[in-house]
Amino acid sequence: MPSIRKNKITEEIFQSKTLKLPFVWKRSKRKSLGIYIVRGGVVEVRSSHYASLKGIHDFIDLNLAWILQKQNEKKKRIIYSTETLMFGKVPDIQFVQNGIDHYAEGTLYIKKTLKLKNIENDLTGLSGELLRKIFIQHKELHIAFQKARLAYAKKYLTERFMEISQSEKFKKFKTELKIRDMKARWGSCHYNGKIVLNERLIAVPAEAIDSVIMHELCHLYEYNHSPRFKKILTEVCPDWKKYNAMLLSYSTRE
Ligand SMILES: [Zn+2]
Repeated sequence: MPSIRKNKITEEIFQSKTLKLPFVWKRSKRKSLGIYIVRGGVVEVRSSHYASLKGIHDFIDLNLAWILQKQNEKKKRIIYSTETLMFGKVPDIQFVQNGIDHYAEGTLYIKKTLKLKNIENDLTGLSGELLRKIFIQHKELHIAFQKARLAYAKKYLTERFMEISQSEKFKKFKTELKIRDMKARWGSCHYNGKIVLNERLIAVPAEAIDSVIMHELCHLYEYNHSPRFKKILTEVCPDWKKYNAMLLSYSTRE
């Protein structure tokens, strides 16, 4: 028996009557069998070099309910990031006694409410990862945060849209803006001038938001992604390829 063997990694597919589940099979010096749900909900089975594929399939079958539940949790966490970021960062939070929810320079100001009063002391000066943990514990805060963030998203996207659509290049078109939550697209444009922006855009850096607005407005010249469309887009947004790649990294799609 060789004492040292390299890890062996293969891609496999578990198939039952109702579902097809791809998984990664990692064989190493370990003795026990384990299932892990790693980044992006990928299923990874780790075993010794002597485990059989049949044994692995039986093991997956036995743990299927658990696997699917864990995968779901991981997927939720991916979407969660577009629900907490603003302009590419998790904002700091400050509570305001009077006035309204607003955002300025990396801080989201949330109006104090009675429901938030009890947890407010726990939160002063928190940001980043720590803040995310607190969100999970305090539903009321999460709701207040989302409400303030969404209100600001609508205001910001409307203002940017107004500004860009009134610029020299686009002001000849009559447009109508709608902002809503979409699962798979950042924006859309109808030939009659109706443009929809995804409220989740507030999660991405400001230049990338502008690039989406310009992309949709360029469709008023050219209702497709032809070379002519790309030429017009390049005129107004030379770095659109860079922003497309950036947007993909924030994408809510798996
Ligand atoms: Zn398009």
